[in-house]
Amino acid sequence: MAKRIEVADLDIYYGSFKAVEGVNMAIEPYSITALIGPSGCGKSTFLRTLNRMHEVLPGARVSGKVAMDGQNLYDPDIDPVTVRRHVGMVFQRPNPFPTMSIYDNVAAGVKLNNRRMRKASLDELVETSLRGANLWEEVKDRLGRPGSSLSGGQQQRLCIARAIAIKPDVLLMDEPCSALDPISTLAIEDLINELKEKFTIVIVTHNMQQAARVSDRTGFFNIEGTGKPGKLIEMDATQRIFSNPSVKATEDYITGRFG
Ligand code: ADP
Repeated sequence: MAKRIEVADLDIYYGSFKAVEGVNMAIEPYSITALIGPSGCGKSTFLRTLNRMHEVLPGARVSGKVAMDGQNLYDPDIDPVTVRRHVGMVFQRPNPFPTMSIYDNVAAGVKLNNRRMRKASLDELVETSLRGANLWEEVKDRLGRPGSSLSGGQQQRLCIARAIAIKPDVLLMDEPCSALDPISTLAIEDLINELKEKFTIVIVTHNMQQAARVSDRTGFFNIEGTGKPGKLIEMDATQRIFSNPSVKATEDYITGRFG
């Protein structure tokens, strides 16, 4: 079940360095949110706080709240491993397990979560996930081949299949197309659009056309200068951000005057 995300007064630190400050944001279920802004303004850092991956680095921490359907992910009794099971992530470079077969790549997340499944159920899950990632037709006859035998675009769809196989509520994507050619990029964008029927999706992208094409809402992050924390400057319907933003800095950024 896709979840509603609510972020309140979120500050994000790497040791004593405050990388992101004061984020307040609401994200509706079954929607696609794009995060844009110049390099270094904290988009990826922010994204990683939505599944508690930020804190895996020594000294990295947050203050404030990130809630999913009202439950604060940072409450002391919440297990970060469970959070990551509900909030899947797809990275910039496709990172299939290279020696593992296509089949095992998709099944990997489920196996890691210690869910013992009968072979027939696992087969079905692998097929459904590959279909959900628009990859099934291309790989159904070679499920035993290594993940690394696929093209970059196919590998990224394989990683999406792996992420959706564990049936998360939320899917985070950190520049998922930045290593891909334009055709594979369009295939992933079509796929993202289909996935919003099942998940809440948050995507970081440096590609403004992509944000405009795929997202319902867009958040613009910015930074005043080196060493200063990044901030969410404004967030609105994507159409509005790209036609008539409220803040001058957003307009300057989307019209290419900086960044
Ligand atoms: P963006 O995704 O918008 O390009 P990042 O989230 O990657 O920005 O970076 C935001 C800030 O946090 C930058 O100043 C960056 O140098 C810093 N930062 C990112 N990752 C780390 C890290 N692992 N350790 C320390 N500082 C980091």
